[in-house]
Amino acid sequence: MSIIQGTTGEWEMVIGLEVHAQVISHSKLFSGASAVFGAAPNAQVSLVDAAFPGMLPVINEKCVEQAVRTGLGLKAQINLTSVFDRKNYFYADLPAGYQISQFTQPIVGKGEILLDLADGSSRTVGITRLHLEQDAGKSMHDQSPNETFVDLNRSGVALMEIVSEPDMRSGEEAGAYLKKLRAILRYLGTCDGNMEEGSMRCDVNLSMRRVGDPVLGTRCEIKNVNSIRFVQQAIEYESVRQVEVLESGGKIVQETRLWDTSKGITRSMRSKEDAHDYRYFPDPDLLPLVLDPAFVESIKATLPELPDEKKARFISDYGLKPYDASVLVAEKPSADYFEKVAKGRDGKLAANWVTVELFGALNKLGKTVENSPVSAEALGELVGLISDQTISGRIAKEVFEEMLESGKAAAQIVEEKGLKQVTDTVAIEQAIDAILAANADKVAEYKSGKDKLFGFFVGQVMKTTGGKANPAMLNELLKKKLA
Ligand code: ADP
Ligand code: MG
Repeated sequence: MSIIQGTTGEWEMVIGLEVHAQVISHSKLFSGASAVFGAAPNAQVSLVDAAFPGMLPVINEKCVEQAVRTGLGLKAQINLTSVFDRKNYFYADLPAGYQISQFTQPIVGKGEILLDLADGSSRTVGITRLHLEQDAGKSMHDQSPNETFVDLNRSGVALMEIVSEPDMRSGEEAGAYLKKLRAILRYLGTCDGNMEEGSMRCDVNLSMRRVGDPVLGTRCEIKNVNSIRFVQQAIEYESVRQVEVLESGGKIVQETRLWDTSKGITRSMRSKEDAHDYRYFPDPDLLPLVLDPAFVESIKATLPELPDEKKARFISDYGLKPYDASVLVAEKPSADYFEKVAKGRDGKLAANWVTVELFGALNKLGKTVENSPVSAEALGELVGLISDQTISGRIAKEVFEEMLESGKAAAQIVEEKGLKQVTDTVAIEQAIDAILAANADKVAEYKSGKDKLFGFFVGQVMKTTGGKANPAMLNELLKKKLA
């Protein structure tokens, strides 16, 4: 919970998020036109999408399946009967004058999402509903100095609107919610989750109340924020703004605001419309959507292992810490990569190498696990060489650098560079003896109580062995010699 200290007391944020997620499907929600992004303007527009008189919408079964799949992934109630309504409003890129959406009877009801927070704790946030609706077209204001053009390629593309309960209490929680939702959508294959490209868009609803007050304050809605970072910045700004208004005796008016990325502020866009402004009514062209329970069951049977379950399995099967497990399951390709590295090996060591060394290197190179210069098999081999004591962890870092550069296998680098760890007791003892003999003064100091010198001796022996002495053996033998 993030508390804002005002001049008259402490305030608590209340946040609820609405996410529009574009459904992965070849064609649109009620027409056969392609829904693939990137075509020339108006190249993918059927007569239905252009709202020609007399055209009839026909529901796309694939989009229904995707909505049900998402509902199941959110552990939500699937409504076997749902209804499509017309939401009426005028806009140049909405040729029908209404959007087909779902209002009182959505396809998916209450569900939940588990947030993984930075301190390792978890919190559950309620999902209020998920409904299917059409996207609008796009007005293009930047093509001509005195005309606006309309591109209807997006008109009629299926969206899932996913609404949360007002359960979040900080920007961090809102960020964690979006990350987890995005991960679930991607695991399910129902939305690609790319906020920057607009296939996942977020409206932030935020109100403030005095700490301890059970009643919710009046909210403002910040529309279409297109990255997690901007969502968090908008929340920081808007919460302070509302506290200032409230503390100076003002009232928050329910309104829609915009996040101005360049100025870093929210601005009023319009006063908030209410449901009755849209004159919702059931679309007379569409029958209620009735699902066969067997259809829902068949989708349930094909659900993949989702992030929360994968995380629990990584903790129990590989002994990982909750935080490391969350990092690994955040993206499915990372989780898959890790499992290949860990197969038949020390899971904790594998997790460490993937999350620290590999992710660090990929970050620097601007790459992902999918185009990593070091494959999971190759990294697994390196981890194996550490576990069987062929090389030490320190040498392994050197080998890894070389693997990144040359693409050579770990074993080959160890062989070529003669990096094999010295585990021969006699050889290590000889190296220790030589160092102790050359530093008789320091040995005397150590024996008179200067314990810190132990590290100095270790360093010297490592130097003469090229870092190859087995660290555990070196420590043990050195202790004996100095006793
Ligand atoms: P609308 O279409 O009017 O935006 P929705 O029901 O679709 O209404 O969404 C409302 C969103 O606002 C939900 O995410 C809900 O959790 C959130 N919300 C409702 N009341 C408050 C409040 N007082 N403070 C913060 N968020 C709220
Ligand atoms: Mg809204």
